[in-house]
Amino acid sequence: MELSLSYYKAQLGELLTAKHHASAFSTTRATYLRIRIVALCYLWAALCILWIPVDALLLDQASAPLAILRLKLSAVLFFIGWLTSQRSTLNACRNAIFALVVSLNLFYMLTNHALGYPHSIDAFSYCYNLLPFVYVVILTILPLTVKESVCVMLIIAVSQIYVDAQSGALLSFETFTLYWLQTVIGFLVIWTQTSKLHMMLRLYRHATLDPLTGIYNRRMLLTLAKRDFENTRTKSRPYSVLLMDLDRFKRVNDRYGHHAGDIVLQAFTQAVQETQRKSDIFGRFGGEEFILFLPKCSADNAQHVANRIMALIRDMRIEVEGLSEPLKVTISIGISTSLCKDDDLSVILEQADQALFKAKNSGRDQSSTYDRVDELIEEGQKRPWLELVN
Ligand code: GH3
Ligand code: MG
Ligand code: MG
Repeated sequence: MELSLSYYKAQLGELLTAKHHASAFSTTRATYLRIRIVALCYLWAALCILWIPVDALLLDQASAPLAILRLKLSAVLFFIGWLTSQRSTLNACRNAIFALVVSLNLFYMLTNHALGYPHSIDAFSYCYNLLPFVYVVILTILPLTVKESVCVMLIIAVSQIYVDAQSGALLSFETFTLYWLQTVIGFLVIWTQTSKLHMMLRLYRHATLDPLTGIYNRRMLLTLAKRDFENTRTKSRPYSVLLMDLDRFKRVNDRYGHHAGDIVLQAFTQAVQETQRKSDIFGRFGGEEFILFLPKCSADNAQHVANRIMALIRDMRIEVEGLSEPLKVTISIGISTSLCKDDDLSVILEQADQALFKAKNSGRDQSSTYDRVDELIEEGQKRPWLELVN
C-alpha cells in the first residue's frame, strides 16, 4: 500500500500546499513556525543594531544613513516578532514570514541605494550586495510547503533583480554567475524546507494515528475531543459521544485468526469514516473499542447516527483471503450527550461507557443512551476516564 502511486501522489500533494494538511497538524506546524519566526526576528533585530559600530569603522561617513536604516529595520523586526508571539494561527505565521522577508528586502534595496550600488567585490560595502544570499539561507530553519517556499524566494529574487537593474549590472556576466549560484542555493533551501515539513508530517502521523486503521489513536482522539468539547461547551451547544465496541470480537480472532480480526477492524473503521461529518472526531480508543465524538449533535441525532452505523456494520460482508465465507459482525454503542455548560468530557465518556455496558448486557447489536441507564455499575467497575482525559 505504501508504494502505490496514489500514496506518492498524496505525499507530494502534502508537500506542495497546506490545503490537505489536517487542521490539528497545521496548528502544530504553526506553533513550530511561530517559535522560530519570533526567535529569528529578535535575533536579527539585535544583530542589526550590533553591526552599526562595524559599519562606522569601515565605511566612515557612508555609515550614517545605514545606521538609521538599521535602527528602522530593527524596530520593524522587533514589532513583527512581538506581534507573532501574540498569535498562534498558521495564517498569522505566514503573514509574519511575508512581513519579515519584505522588510529584510526593503532594507537590502535601501542600503544599496544609500551606498550607490557598490560594484567592487573587494570593498566592504559590497557585502550589502550579497544580503539576498543570507536571506535565502536563514529561511532554511522553517518547514514550509513548496508553494510557501517559492513565494518567499520570489520576493527575494524580485528585489535582487531590482537592485541589479538600478546599478546597471543586470546584464553582466558576474551577475549571471551570481544568479546561477543563488538559484542553486534557493533550490537546496526549498528542498531542505520541504524535507523538514515531510519529516514533521511523518512524525506527526506516527505520534497521532493508529497504525492498523489509520484513524486517530487514543492520545490524539482525547486531545482533539477535549479542545473541541471546550469550544462547543462555551457556545452552549449539545455534544454527543458514541462509544462503539465490536461484539464477541474475541471469537473472530479465535476462529479465523488475528489477521482476519485486523481486516474486520479496518473494514469497520472505513465504514464509519465514510458516514462521519467533517466536524466529527473518530478514533480508536483501544483494542476493538472506538469513539465517535459528535459536536453540536443532540441526543436524538446521536441516536440516528448510531442506528445508521449499526445497520451499516450489520449489513457488511467482509471478505478475508483464505476464508470461503465473508465475515459478519455487529457492534454495540453507548451514547451520551452533554447539554450542560458545567459538564466535563470525562463525565460524558464515563456515561457513554455505562450506556455501552447496558447495551452489551441487553444482548448486543444495539445502542443504549445514558439517561435510560440505571446505576448499573458498581463504583469499582467504572473506568478511570478522568485520568484518561486530563
Ligand atoms: P464483547 O462483545 O463483550 O465486547 O466481547 P469481545 O470478545 O469483543 O471483548 P473482549 O474484550 O473479550 O475481547 C476483545 C478482543 O479484541 C481481545 C483482543 O485479542 C482483540 N483485539 C484487540 N486489539 C486487536 C487488534 O488490533 N487486532 C485484533 N485482531 N484483535 C484485537
Ligand atoms: Mg467487544
Ligand atoms: Mg471491548
